[in-house]
Amino acid sequence: MCTTLVLLELTAETINPLSLRALSAARAVSEDLAGLALGESASVARKACAYFPGVIHLVTSEEMGAEILAPALCQIMEQSGCTQLVAAATPFSRDLLPRVAALAGASFLSQLSVLEFPGEGKRAVLAGKGVVAVRSLLPVSIITIEPSAFPVAAPLAIEGEISLRTDPVEEFPGISRKIIPSAARGGPSLLDAAVVVGVGRGVGPVQSLPLPLAQLATLLGAAVGGTRATCDSGLFSPDLQIGQTGRVIAPECYIAIGVSGAVQHVAGVRGAALIVAIDKNELAGIFETADVGFVGMWEAVVPKLCELLGSNPR
Ligand SMILES: Cc1cc2nc3c(=O)[nH]c(=O)nc-3n(C[C@H](O)[C@H](O)[C@H](O)COP(=O)(O)OP(=O)(O)OC[C@H]3O[C@@H](n4cnc5c(N)ncnc54)[C@H](O)[C@@H]3O)c2cc1C
Repeated sequence: MCTTLVLLELTAETINPLSLRALSAARAVSEDLAGLALGESASVARKACAYFPGVIHLVTSEEMGAEILAPALCQIMEQSGCTQLVAAATPFSRDLLPRVAALAGASFLSQLSVLEFPGEGKRAVLAGKGVVAVRSLLPVSIITIEPSAFPVAAPLAIEGEISLRTDPVEEFPGISRKIIPSAARGGPSLLDAAVVVGVGRGVGPVQSLPLPLAQLATLLGAAVGGTRATCDSGLFSPDLQIGQTGRVIAPECYIAIGVSGAVQHVAGVRGAALIVAIDKNELAGIFETADVGFVGMWEAVVPKLCELLGSNPR
């Protein structure tokens, strides 16, 4: 039994660091926490025991869609007696948790940048220029937090216990066997990559990512996303748009290439620890936000960077 469950997304190698940001948020409002780890790897789930006295590991595979997982989560929440589930806002949780909230008859508070009391916090609006206070009116709340607003939680000096829930389909009554294939993945995802390359209209009217930019991303192990201009042009799909009406990211390093730095775009990258900008216009607004700036044509600057990185890989 616990009052707050923290959803941990497991990859094959590690706990998604965005989930550890959700843990920071939860620690501020609750001392009675347990981890709910979703993923395949038992060894990665065990890593969560350094953060919680108790961890529930629900063994899932990538093919399990929200339709399968939502009722399972709902039942785990009920059995644990928790009144709050906290998770990072990620594409996975955005798909899953509103369903859990609907099934559990719980409030759904999304993308909070401040968590003040259980079921109560604040959310940024108007590209970060305003803040609204939100409060759950129901006994159980499901909360997603804006990852860039919270630090990655540190482990505790403990070795918590793990309880295994092996098969959502077998274990939980009333769950259909329908498997939804996940979209084919290529490269790191925009939301959890340590480095993100942001591509703006300045790269020109191109139909595919210019080779030097693809090389730069490969050398850095970076995810690639775009401004609204490049998404609207069809260079990127809408889910790769960075900004106020797209993804809000918090990588260690964001590299903006041919991006003017409109307020709606910058709203999506403020959480980056380091912002690097490459733009031919020295007056481009992006240089006001950037920590490091290169004034010049990307066609000249990017190959030079690749050359330097090639001889000194990350
Ligand atoms: C309600 C609303 C919501 C919005 N939401 C978003 C959002 O979520 N995300 C988002 O990105 N935008 C959003 N926008 C759009 C935003 O206002 C800007 O129009 C958009 O971000 C501009 O994209 P850009 O920087 O790629 O293009 P531009 O503003 O056209 O900038 C291109 C830059 O490339 C530089 N450049 C040109 N050629 C080169 C070269 N060869 N080498 C180097 N630099 C070069 C130019 O100097 C310029 O600075 C939104 C707008 C509205 C009204």
